[in-house]
Amino acid sequence: MLLKERTESNELLALRYLNTRMELSPKEKFHYLNLEKGYEGEVKFDRLAAERLKEERYILNDLLLEVNNSYFQIDSLIISQSVIHLCDIKNLEGDCYLEGDKLFSKLTGREYQNPVNQIKRSGTLFRQLLQNLKLNFLVDVSVIFINPEFTLYQAPMDQPFILPTQLNRFLDDLNKTPSMLHEGHKKVAQNLLSLHQNTNRLTTLPKYTYDQLSKGIYCKNCKSFLVSIRNNVFLCDQCGEHEKIEHAILRNVKEFQLLFPEKKITTQRIYEWCNVDLSKKTFSRVLKKHYTPIGRTSSTYYV
Ligand SMILES: [Zn+2]
Repeated sequence: MLLKERTESNELLALRYLNTRMELSPKEKFHYLNLEKGYEGEVKFDRLAAERLKEERYILNDLLLEVNNSYFQIDSLIISQSVIHLCDIKNLEGDCYLEGDKLFSKLTGREYQNPVNQIKRSGTLFRQLLQNLKLNFLVDVSVIFINPEFTLYQAPMDQPFILPTQLNRFLDDLNKTPSMLHEGHKKVAQNLLSLHQNTNRLTTLPKYTYDQLSKGIYCKNCKSFLVSIRNNVFLCDQCGEHEKIEHAILRNVKEFQLLFPEKKITTQRIYEWCNVDLSKKTFSRVLKKHYTPIGRTSSTYYV
């Protein structure tokens, strides 16, 4: 049973929007694409787990926990009857090798953060957390390499790696152990959900200003700004994607809100932001329908 779903972090969303509306520096772009790739891998694991895992289990995704002032993040946490699995999902591709406790790309020689140190630290902190809560569970940690195009050379057998070729077996092995959940499992799940830190801070964003960003409505599928209006929809000239005008406006309002949390939502602002051949009346109508107007006439804003 899925108890906590995964959603894109605000950082990933903001970078995704900025990438469409401005030129990111190579370093920013690299960071952004890494986040996209990581998220894609996690979603892929979620789908696989939902498909293959049987028996009673709780699944909590993307937890940020704190114990004794140390923060740690768990991509996927699976509570079974006899064990709690902490999984770190890595979407690396290509050939990598381990040297000592360092992970390198064979092609570029680039060093990656060693996921084992990270998951071991999470495991230790998580056990401490359970101890603080006076809960007694067996904890197991794994680093899951989700990308089928990934190979790891010199992988020691005593490390908690699940390579792409082992992933189905890892899930099947989980299935082999019968799992019935009771009150104690429910309690630990509820505890973890309540302890999840919902910070979602926008820490590493590039600098940007309103004036600097391209205005306009772009295709939600291919991100092209070449969209035309037909009846009630935006039609993408590049890929043919349709989107209802109302949906597209709301999508752009959300984008504006995330990028400029300090700015008030007004008809004029959203009209400028969307910069498209629609009357202000249309924007006003959509805003009124989905948001609450505050104030009157020209100074009305929406929450
Ligand atoms: Zn398109």
